[in-house]
Amino acid sequence: MYFFKKQAKKNLAPPVSWKITEGCFSMIAESAKSIYPKEFAGLLRRDDEIKDTITEIVLLPGTIAGDSHAIFNMHMKPFDLSIVGTIHSHPSPSYRPSDADKMLFRKYGKIHIIIAHPFLHSSWCAYDAFGEKITMNII
Ligand SMILES: [Zn+2]
Repeated sequence: MYFFKKQAKKNLAPPVSWKITEGCFSMIAESAKSIYPKEFAGLLRRDDEIKDTITEIVLLPGTIAGDSHAIFNMHMKPFDLSIVGTIHSHPSPSYRPSDADKMLFRKYGKIHIIIAHPFLHSSWCAYDAFGEKITMNII
């Protein structure tokens, strides 16, 4: 006789390998560079057809580029199911999420990017809603 444990997590989604287009990544890098040493912040929008690929950055009106932290004005977040998460830059060489970042990640979306100075292909990382690193490829 077998007893099956009820699964702890209900919505175990199959692993998705996220991608971001080169053009979108360059835009992030360029925006982060141009606003440096302040922080750049925006939202990530995926493609309507290819749903695991981020193709666009959405800027929120009223988002403040801070000296130590960008402040998202989430009241201005459009109702848009193709918005999957957030992007922000760190003026430091560390792309590790701070505690405040992790709180933001949990609240807004499932995919988050932090790009760190000097904003290159080697200085960024993607995270899930729990602040765990995930794989994202630039295509
Ligand atoms: Zn941060």
